[in-house]
Amino acid sequence: MKSVNSWLFKDPIPTLVDCGEYTADSWDTLKMQLKTHGLEIKDIQKIVITHAHVDHMGMANQVVQESGATVYLSEYAFPWGEHVNELWASRSQIIKETFLKLVGPESPIHGMFSTGQSFFNSMLSMWEPIPKDHVVKFESKDGIDIGGRHWEVIYAPGHSSTQTVFFDSDSRHLLSADMLLNIAPTPVIEIDPLQPGTRQPGLPKLIESFSNMKALNVSKAFPGHYDAFEDVNETIDRQLKRIEMRTQHCYTLIKEGSHDYNSLFLNMYPNRIHFPALVMMIGYLDVLEERGLISKEKDEQGIFRFEALPHQSF
Ligand SMILES: [Zn+2]
Repeated sequence: MKSVNSWLFKDPIPTLVDCGEYTADSWDTLKMQLKTHGLEIKDIQKIVITHAHVDHMGMANQVVQESGATVYLSEYAFPWGEHVNELWASRSQIIKETFLKLVGPESPIHGMFSTGQSFFNSMLSMWEPIPKDHVVKFESKDGIDIGGRHWEVIYAPGHSSTQTVFFDSDSRHLLSADMLLNIAPTPVIEIDPLQPGTRQPGLPKLIESFSNMKALNVSKAFPGHYDAFEDVNETIDRQLKRIEMRTQHCYTLIKEGSHDYNSLFLNMYPNRIHFPALVMMIGYLDVLEERGLISKEKDEQGIFRFEALPHQSF
């Protein structure tokens, strides 16, 4: 990511919502930005995390070390505070396994996941565990106090299976994490926190979370990346429309004879093998499967093949 937002509430106690990944650049930027508000890192007392991704909580421990702040994590993200090393190892594993069941060894995508890849290894250099006595678990159902207001906490999986957003029903402001952004979020590959060992289908969850967000009638979204924005439901509609269009395209390709992940991917993302596209492609297949439009079966190499089910239409 080029940038990530850390939202500051100065009163009643200096509080950050998310705090960037742990790099020298992020650290300097946070320091500089706090200074423009008359604060230093040592003044931070509370850090509230929206979801367990490196760009949102990687630097939390560093802030804790300098300030003694307490980090608040929902029941979904809580284990990541202390156990990021172990949990990242199992998240990496499920990402690798997911792809290796989709592409054969001759695919250009295979190499990205079959060997130790820098993406997996470099992650933990930007994401440190937080000592247990500085981590507090909050339950979504109880809401959370930030900046002198009581925020409703809403579980919003899709982009991340650990993601929560914070809603203030008076102002209808939403601290929207990576659920609502100006650019549609991608569904990453993660374990279902309620069903350990199972991958949570990201895009179907994201679509469901979009409807939940729409029902809130948010007046302004304060996202995890890019600028705050006000045309919230229009943005949701636009992003949902595009997801539907792309899912339908994927379905048409399967009907017309593309039955494996590789050929579907190369059709939908020509010349663009990058992670967000790779996971989005899995998302379209998850949606089609969940809607009962396609089936998948393993071929003799153990690689999934997708078939359109008869007597169905999009
Ligand atoms: Zn993010």
